[in-house]
Amino acid sequence: MVRVGVLALQGGWAAHLACLRGLGHRAVEVRSPRALDGLDGLVLPGGESTAQWRLLTRAPGLAEALRSFAGSGAPVLVTCAGLVLAARAVAPTQPSLDLLDVCVRRNGWGRQLASAEARADDGTPLVLIRAPRIEAVGDGVTVETTLDGEPVLVRQANVWGATYHPELAGDLRAYARPFRRGW
Ligand code: GLN
Repeated sequence: MVRVGVLALQGGWAAHLACLRGLGHRAVEVRSPRALDGLDGLVLPGGESTAQWRLLTRAPGLAEALRSFAGSGAPVLVTCAGLVLAARAVAPTQPSLDLLDVCVRRNGWGRQLASAEARADDGTPLVLIRAPRIEAVGDGVTVETTLDGEPVLVRQANVWGATYHPELAGDLRAYARPFRRGW
């Protein structure tokens, strides 16, 4: 069993807890730095990144604790608004944690794909809800999954970033890869 925390300030954290528990992991809500103690992994869920950032910066020490948790090498999965929070750079400009060397554009698919269910190029089921678009990836980032050739799942060492909602598509593989035993 892997103990995974889900940042539970705003957005879709409850569905992540349910998926993780369905995989047999111990999943807990994270709202303070202390909640990270003893965890093996972490999820930053979707929702609204500006609201999440506001709540995050009101919790003393939490932003720094999330940065050092990711820096420790433990697996981290960030999805949708969580990807916006974790990105190195965001357009239009807003603050972020800089856990993952990507540039993302909020709501970057516009009307073309505002909210949709789709299949990635490798068949992964995608639920996209006002999803960010990954516009640039750094040298240390690998593209794991694409949609029409564009990255929708990327990875930089221990940090995995999805523009979509695996917790809504029942895509347990998205968890199985970062949070496999013996990572
Ligand atoms: N558009 C949201 C944001 O930028 C993300 C949407 C989502 O998490 N489904 O914060």
